[in-house]
Amino acid sequence: MTQSEGEITYPGDPMCLYAALSVAVHRAVADAGPLEKASHYTDLAPEWTRFPGKEYRLSAGGDGFRPYGELPNTDQTVFDPRVWDDTARARWIGLLREVRPRTVLISTVSPGQYVFLAAGSMGTSKLLVRAKGRGSLPDLPDGIGRFWGDNADRLAIRVGMPGPPSTGGPAHIVATDWRDPATAISLAEFPGGSSPAPGEGVSGTFAMQITEPDGSFAYDSASDSVHLTYPNDDAGLDTVLGGVLDRLNAANPGTRTYSTTAAYTSHPLGGAVLGHTCGSDGTVLGHPNLFVVDSSLIPGSTGAVTPALTVTARASRTVTRAIRTLQRQS
Ligand SMILES: Cc1cc2nc3c(=O)[nH]c(=O)nc-3n(C[C@H](O)[C@H](O)[C@H](O)COP(=O)(O)OP(=O)(O)OC[C@H]3O[C@@H](n4cnc5c(N)ncnc54)[C@H](O)[C@@H]3O)c2cc1C
Repeated sequence: MTQSEGEITYPGDPMCLYAALSVAVHRAVADAGPLEKASHYTDLAPEWTRFPGKEYRLSAGGDGFRPYGELPNTDQTVFDPRVWDDTARARWIGLLREVRPRTVLISTVSPGQYVFLAAGSMGTSKLLVRAKGRGSLPDLPDGIGRFWGDNADRLAIRVGMPGPPSTGGPAHIVATDWRDPATAISLAEFPGGSSPAPGEGVSGTFAMQITEPDGSFAYDSASDSVHLTYPNDDAGLDTVLGGVLDRLNAANPGTRTYSTTAAYTSHPLGGAVLGHTCGSDGTVLGHPNLFVVDSSLIPGSTGAVTPALTVTARASRTVTRAIRTLQRQS
């Protein structure tokens, strides 16, 4: 419980919970019997043998109240502290009069003054898209969950190398062709793995290019989940990669491309992109106290290189600006 003075007495002080639970435990000891027929916890959890389903839990309306129908109870009832007003107060008193519990546990979550999201492109995008879809942050901009890309990641395997049939580590070369920005590509040697071609040496390569950020996340209310759709159908990326691999093979007679795949990425980028969803200080547009500081800010690719340093630089800049913004506000 958070007191009006701002002091947290629970969970900071678990004695509060223990004291309340001791009532139920005392009654449970006195009233041992089959679980289904148990009535000994009913003060704390009248519905405790019938856990509320997801649909029920999500059915709180915009006024923060979830109707309890014909089974009045206190444990399943949600009162959103952000909409604690006379109506909510009257409902709460009505519920208490109806149920007349001996013990009530009240748990409130104080809304944070500032929220910084750093759950990564996949995590932050999903959190925000779900918040918009559920209606808990309905005014999030339309760009939320959009402009996502996989950094045009491709894995390529070349075989016919001299030497052992497996590559060692760590990664030992990065080859780049950045002469034309439209077809810029970097290849990072990818160690490990045995050769798929018996007796032939192998070279694994991780290729990165610049891609259209045409992936997007969408909320599915039926399953309360968020799904990513990414066409990943830019044949031009495969053409550029194939051309570079052909040049490498030609320069190293006996080697050839064994396979390439776009079915993998370790560089998800986008979903809460600068300029579309977030301001330059990382604030989500229309939500000045909500900040994004991770790879969600970057639309789809980091210029044909690995993203961690760009993500870090972006986070540093975002946090520096956010601190200035907060200082101005205080
Ligand atoms: C296998 C692999 C190899 C890579 N190698 C390189 C490389 O060599 N060079 C390079 O530049 N980049 C590399 N990357 C990419 C790089 O790691 C990412 O671009 C970078 O870490 C992204 O930073 P971020 O802060 O956006 O997210 P992350 O570093 O992913 O941090 C997000 C954090 O949020 C947490 N989280 C997620 N959801 C929630 C939630 N709902 N609640 C609470 N916490 C949550 C996650 O557990 C994670 O700790 C690699 C990635 C992978 C997967």
